[in-house]
Amino acid sequence: MHFDPAEALSRDQLNALQAERLRATVERAMKSPFYGKLYREHGITPDTIKTVDDVRKLPLTTKQDLRDNYPYGLLAAGQDAMVRMHASSGTTGTPTAIFYTDEDLHTWASLMARCMHMIGIRRSDVFQNMSGYGLFTGGLGIHYGAEHLGCLTIPAGAGNSKRQLKLLKDFNVTAVHIIPSYALYFASFLEKEGIDPKSLPLRRALIGAEPHTEEVRKRIEEIFDIKAYNSYGLSEMNGPGVAFECPEQNGMHLWEDSYILEVIDPASLEPVEDGQVGELVLTTIRRDGMPIVRYRTRDLTRILPGECPCGRVHRRIDRIQGRTDDMLILKGVNIYPMQVEQVLMSMPEVGSNYLIVLESDGDMDQMCIRVEINDDIFVEDMRVLGALQTRIAKRMKNEILITPRVELVQHGSLPHSEGKAERVQDMRTRKS
Ligand code: AMP
Ligand code: ZN
Repeated sequence: MHFDPAEALSRDQLNALQAERLRATVERAMKSPFYGKLYREHGITPDTIKTVDDVRKLPLTTKQDLRDNYPYGLLAAGQDAMVRMHASSGTTGTPTAIFYTDEDLHTWASLMARCMHMIGIRRSDVFQNMSGYGLFTGGLGIHYGAEHLGCLTIPAGAGNSKRQLKLLKDFNVTAVHIIPSYALYFASFLEKEGIDPKSLPLRRALIGAEPHTEEVRKRIEEIFDIKAYNSYGLSEMNGPGVAFECPEQNGMHLWEDSYILEVIDPASLEPVEDGQVGELVLTTIRRDGMPIVRYRTRDLTRILPGECPCGRVHRRIDRIQGRTDDMLILKGVNIYPMQVEQVLMSMPEVGSNYLIVLESDGDMDQMCIRVEINDDIFVEDMRVLGALQTRIAKRMKNEILITPRVELVQHGSLPHSEGKAERVQDMRTRKS
C-alpha cells in the first residue's frame, strides 16, 4: 500500500513526468535574477528540454553560486510569495538561505510523510522529533511530515536527554527522528540512568542528517531493539525527504518525481556509470519559490544498480560515504572520516564517541584518534588497554594505510554535540 500514487509510477511514467517538470522548472527558474542571466548567456530556453537527459545541457549550480546571490538572487517569485526560510548548517562563510512558498511547504511535507509511511509509520504512532528546530530543516521539515501523515507529533527539539526520556515514556512514543551520533549518546545517558533502552515502547527511528556507517545503524538497532532507517536530505533540496530507505534497508529511494538524480565525477564533471561512486547532483523539479538546477551537493554516493525488491522504481542511492570537502589528506593519503568510523564501530570494546585530531609533529602530520571505550574495559589493566590500542591502530592501518596514534579515553569524556557531530579537529599548523 502506497501513501502517495507517485511511489507506484513506472519508469516510463517517471521519465515523462521528469521531462515535463524539468521543462517547467527551467521556465520558472528563468524568472530568478541568477538563472535568468545564466540561461540567457547560455542560450537556454524551456525548449532546450525535450527529454530528461537534456538536463545535462544545463550548467551546474554550486554552493558558491548560492552564496554569491545571497539572499534573494535565486527567488523565482517576489519575496512576498515566500512563507518560510531555512538555512544550511555550514559553520563557515555566508550561510545559504532557502525559501519556500506555501505550496512548496505542502510538497515537502507530503514527501516526508511518504518516507515515514514507507517504513510503516501510521497515524496511530506517536512521533517525537528529537532534532534541533530553528533554521535546521530536520526540525520543522520532519515535524510537518509527521503531522501530514497524521501522527501525534511531539516537537521535543535537540538535547535535554532527561526531558526526552520523560516525553518518550509519558506519551508511549513509538517512532522518533534522531541524529545517529545523538542516538548513541542518548543510549549511554539511559545506561547511566539505569534504564534499559529496550524497555521503551519505541519501534522505529529515522536517522540521518549526518554521515554514519552501517555499523552505527546496527548499534542503534540493537541497543534500542528497533528498526532504524537512513534519511537523507539537504536544505538546498528542501531538507529531509529527498531520499529514504524502504523496509529492505538497502539503499535510499530518491524521489524522482520531485528531484532529478545524477552522479558525476567531481573532477571531469562527466556522469559516472551506475554503481560507481561520484558526487550527487540534484535538481528540484517540484519547487516554485526557489528552483535549484543541477546542484552539486558535494555528497559522495553511487546509484545502486538493479531493482529494489520492494517494487518502487525510484532509483536508490547508497549511504553517503562522505563529502568531497571532508576528505582528509595526510601523508599524501586520502582518508574519509567514515572509514575510521567503520573500523571503530565494528569493535565491541569501543564506545559511542570518537574524535579524529590532525596535528603537526615537527615536519610530519599525524593523525590521533581519541576513542571512548566501554566502562568494563576501562577498568582493565594497562596490558589489556595497550593491546586494544595496538589492535585499533593495526586495523586502521589496513583501512586507511597510515598508522594513527590511538588514545583510549573514558566513556562520556569526549565533547558531544546535540546537532550534527563534529568528527574531525584539524590542529595542523599548515594544512596539506
Ligand atoms: P543541511 O542542509 O545543513 O541540513 O546539511 C545537509 C548535508 O547533511 C547533506 O549535504 C549531507 O552532507 C549531510 N546529510 C544529510 N543526511 C545525511 C545522511 N542520511 N547521511 C549522510 N549525510 C547526510
Ligand atoms: Zn525499496
